[in-house]
Amino acid sequence: MSACKRLLSDMKLWSFGRSRWTSRARDGMVVRGKAFSSSTCPKVCVVGGGPAGFYTAQHLIKGRQDVQVDVYERLPVPFGLVRFGVAPDHPEVKNVINTFTQTAKHSRCSFYGNVNVGQDVSVGELLQAYHAVILSYGAEGNRSMGVPGEHLAGVYSAKDFVGWYNGLPSCRELNPDLSCDTAIVLGQGNVALDVARILLSPLDFLKKTDITQPALEALAASRVRRVWIVGRRGPMQVACTIKELREMATLPGTRPEMTPADFDGVRDALKDLSRPRKRLTELMMKTALEPPGEKERERWGAASRVWGFRFFRSPVEVLPDSGGKKVAAVRLAVNRLEGSGEAAQAVITGEVEDVPCGLVISSIGYKSLPIDPAVPFDPRRAVVPNSMGRVQQVSGLYCSGWVKTGPTGVIATRRYSDSFDTKCDSLIEDIDSGVNPVAFSDWEKIDSLEVRRGEVCGKPREKLLSVEEMLAVARS
Ligand code: FAD
Ligand code: NAP
Repeated sequence: MSACKRLLSDMKLWSFGRSRWTSRARDGMVVRGKAFSSSTCPKVCVVGGGPAGFYTAQHLIKGRQDVQVDVYERLPVPFGLVRFGVAPDHPEVKNVINTFTQTAKHSRCSFYGNVNVGQDVSVGELLQAYHAVILSYGAEGNRSMGVPGEHLAGVYSAKDFVGWYNGLPSCRELNPDLSCDTAIVLGQGNVALDVARILLSPLDFLKKTDITQPALEALAASRVRRVWIVGRRGPMQVACTIKELREMATLPGTRPEMTPADFDGVRDALKDLSRPRKRLTELMMKTALEPPGEKERERWGAASRVWGFRFFRSPVEVLPDSGGKKVAAVRLAVNRLEGSGEAAQAVITGEVEDVPCGLVISSIGYKSLPIDPAVPFDPRRAVVPNSMGRVQQVSGLYCSGWVKTGPTGVIATRRYSDSFDTKCDSLIEDIDSGVNPVAFSDWEKIDSLEVRRGEVCGKPREKLLSVEEMLAVARS
């Protein structure tokens, strides 16, 4: 049962009245139940205004005709990684914002931006005020490599680099140094490919997107000509999908450069692969091994930029230049695979290889962080421990999205969410300490200003880059 369904079934019990509710509580299914009369309208609070938060709100509103949902979002602007993660050259993915907007404008949904749960209000306070609280606050941290040198200048997490080109206020000052010839992206997931593509895309492509103006200017001055996308396992274990690989393979102004030996034995293994994995691997083999057709040969001949996958390599150290402060190379352990298929494990051989570079972007995954000491958190898996979305040991508390599952899966996956609890007064009225929430109609002022600013330079929008600017427009 999904967490949303669980929540909806808990809600049914509430409206059946106190006796059913307390008997369920006695059975231990709900530790701390709240008694409701049939006239009480259930009120639910969702923490996080990203895909999981909006899909959860939508699901609840559709699932029950009397539920009221409040969405609390830390930033003054909604939509989470749809705004701050999805690549600027993937505008079609962002159309999902239209569905979220419909939900936000529903008569039984309210959006409150600029409310940092855990700081402005505790989860305990929310639990007192609502029938259910659903944590949908995503994964705002990143996995670190845990190798010497990873804090040298010129080494960035993909989370920060993506946040920078997408206008995340906390990454505004990143100013990545793009003055080198070679960049190494560590990890071979879709985020790694987004980063590689943005580094190598022709400016004419990017300037029609909603990439921020400072990022566009930095990329215009970039001297990066070569991007290696490094993975600890082999061609049959890459974490990216076929669409993203095809975009790399056909990126104007670039040509691929791979190591044919990395593909030894791959052709024989194709027959055992699942259909999507087989198609992905075939495209990779074609890109890496087959001589290009006439058109392709022309494109490759004119290409000024090169990219390629480097397989069977794990980072063991980031090496500094002679000044000791800036990255000059990455030391990679050479691996072999043990086992086969998706579950194959990388095992180090003892051999190492130093690859010179001036920019390193670590794209080995995002990570959820705890936001409130009162909420259970599993630091090893970096999720809120839950049973199908119901948070263990805390009645009335649920979770959905990346904080529930860990940081994998696309936006559509977020439809399967969950959570919930009681009082009908909006908690927002109880929040003092100067918190001044941004309503959805305030966000619409920001939205229309950004769109107008974009029109001037032929872009879908020019984003505001600081929280202060966003709040000033919201309050105008
Ligand atoms: P998020 O989108 O991170 O939303 C969480 C929200 O919670 C954020 O708005 C955050 O500000 C808010 N929040 C955090 N802390 C608090 C707090 N304390 N109080 C209140 N609010 C808080 N999927 C696709 O289908 N297509 C793509 O092209 C695609 N591109 C991607 C590119 C990148 C770089 C990344 C990282 C992911 C991409 N994905 C893509 C995956 C997709 O973005 C995720 O599946 C989805 O965003 C996860 O949703 P979420 O709501 O769990 O988290
Ligand atoms: P991901 O898909 O989990 O990929 C992480 C990559 O990092 C994998 O190649 C992984 O290799 C590697 N890695 C992990 N730990 C490592 C370590 N310690 N050392 C070396 N390599 C390590 O994560 P992601 O790229 O951040 O993407 C997150 C989710 O968002 C994914 O589900 C993705 O599909 C989605 N997304 C979708 C799109 C899109 O649809 N266009 C765009 C961006 C993101 P192993 O496989 O060996 O672990």
